[in-house]
Amino acid sequence: TDAILEIRGLDVDYGVGGEAVRAVRDVHLTLHRGEVLGLAGESGSGKSTLAYGLTRLLAPPGVIRGGEVIYHPEDGEPYDVLRLTDRQLRDFRWAEVSIVFQGAMNSLNPVHKVVTQLVDVIKAHEPRTTKAGRLARARDLLRLVGISADRLEAYPHQLSGGMRQRVMIAMALALEPRVVIMDEPTTALDVVMQRQILGRLVELRERLGFSVLFITHDLSLLGEFSDRIAIMYGGRIVEQAPAADLYRDALHPYSHGLLNSFPALRGPRRELSGIPGSPPDTRGMPSGCAFHPRCPRAFEPCGSRVPALGSPGDPAREVACWLHPVSP
Ligand code: SF4
Ligand code: MG
Repeated sequence: TDAILEIRGLDVDYGVGGEAVRAVRDVHLTLHRGEVLGLAGESGSGKSTLAYGLTRLLAPPGVIRGGEVIYHPEDGEPYDVLRLTDRQLRDFRWAEVSIVFQGAMNSLNPVHKVVTQLVDVIKAHEPRTTKAGRLARARDLLRLVGISADRLEAYPHQLSGGMRQRVMIAMALALEPRVVIMDEPTTALDVVMQRQILGRLVELRERLGFSVLFITHDLSLLGEFSDRIAIMYGGRIVEQAPAADLYRDALHPYSHGLLNSFPALRGPRRELSGIPGSPPDTRGMPSGCAFHPRCPRAFEPCGSRVPALGSPGDPAREVACWLHPVSP
């Protein structure tokens, strides 16, 4: 197999005991070597929680209740990220899997030059590198993400939002990780800027050979840049497919709704029909298929039985909807 990261049956709760609500439910998802996997869904669908859970960066009251996150290293045996010690985890993050958070561009330290902050990341993880070596690498990285040499000495406030976001991408790439996770890194930026940043990342992916898990609520961006797309709703993956297949022939009614919710960046504009209603609160998750109160195609089993995620015949695809008979 060419899997690099396999999420198996991941469950994440917020809170414990009687107060607990399940935010991520039995998620199975595989990221393959060198691919860009897009993860989409409305806000509140569990996308960020999934990303924080699998990198073990969940803040309380988030708790991982079960499942495995199997990482396949370059050399050696696969291992479960959820079982790493804190020390092992520190080495794993940044060096194997790095993550760019939502709003990360605001987490730069305002009193240090960006190049210095980059140097510090390298120094913290690779203390044996020389000062000159670290500086050269930081400069290279900034150049790589399209920050010109005359901006190297800039402080964060002297850079635009788009540039600061690119600095964060440079940081995420600093230790040459094999997986880069981006959680809506571009929501604060305009669409043109979002496309530029994403385009740059995909270009770098081709040159440096890492895999990307890209999380967004905007499917129009994913169509252009992802190899595969997974759709999340109510804490579960409800569909996953090669990007082209999902665009041509989405199977899940929620995927249809999402596709109609965003104007296409290229080609004819789609009608912005959206999805009526709003995503469920984890506290009041509907019974059966969580989408049933909003689904235009809901029928008899939908309100009482949870449809299993499985292959609808095409082994490259998975869907969880009573409209589509699947084999697990
Ligand atoms: Fe709609 Fe039923 Fe399919 Fe859920 S299982 S998406 S309610 S048709
Ligand atoms: Mg989020």
